[in-house]
Amino acid sequence: MRYGMLIDLSKCIGCAACVMACKVENGTLTGVYWCNVYTKEIGKYPRVKKRTMPSACMHCTNAPCVKACPTGASYHTEEGLVLVDYDKCIGCRVCLNACPYNARHYNFTDQRKNPYYEGMEMTPFEKVKNKNHPIGKAGKCILCKDRLNDGKKPACVQTCPTQCRIFGDLDEPNSEVSIAIRNNGAKPLYAHLGTKPSVYYIGSI
Ligand code: SF4
Ligand code: SF4
Repeated sequence: MRYGMLIDLSKCIGCAACVMACKVENGTLTGVYWCNVYTKEIGKYPRVKKRTMPSACMHCTNAPCVKACPTGASYHTEEGLVLVDYDKCIGCRVCLNACPYNARHYNFTDQRKNPYYEGMEMTPFEKVKNKNHPIGKAGKCILCKDRLNDGKKPACVQTCPTQCRIFGDLDEPNSEVSIAIRNNGAKPLYAHLGTKPSVYYIGSI
């Protein structure tokens, strides 16, 4: 079993529903986004186009962040997820530098006192979710592991209105995601780095 994903860029409309779904599901701290949608304009006016590319942790099989972590806090699960053990994390941020995908974040300062709007208290939802993001530790996409344990898809996959994400078991040759990767010649981002990501793209990176 190795969880992975295919993202079809030709279907992405840049609506950022995945970004919001991730934020709501994981309740990341103010200004921290585990899921991003990068945008780029190509061409010259008046013939311009906008390209969008969703990105998050690639859950690399050969993960530089895991190798770089001096305490063993960054680790692989049996299902191929790359996670952080907050009890072992010393907040050195070596992993942030090691990740070539800019997928890691550091939980700066006590944002519990600084919600989005000055002078406003955190909502009950924020109070509950913020406990999952201890200050002074490194964080990243956890592929919604609790949803996976409940047999659900990650929130970004579930929410995408154009269904540009296909999620499943990369080790199962007949899974929908494996077939789609094979049939479409999907490629991971920065394959030349040898990180062996578990996220693949089609539709031009
Ligand atoms: Fe680590 Fe970055 Fe790969 Fe995620 S994308 S596993 S944080 S190196
Ligand atoms: Fe490991 Fe934490 Fe340091 Fe990252 S910040 S390298 S997870 S100890």
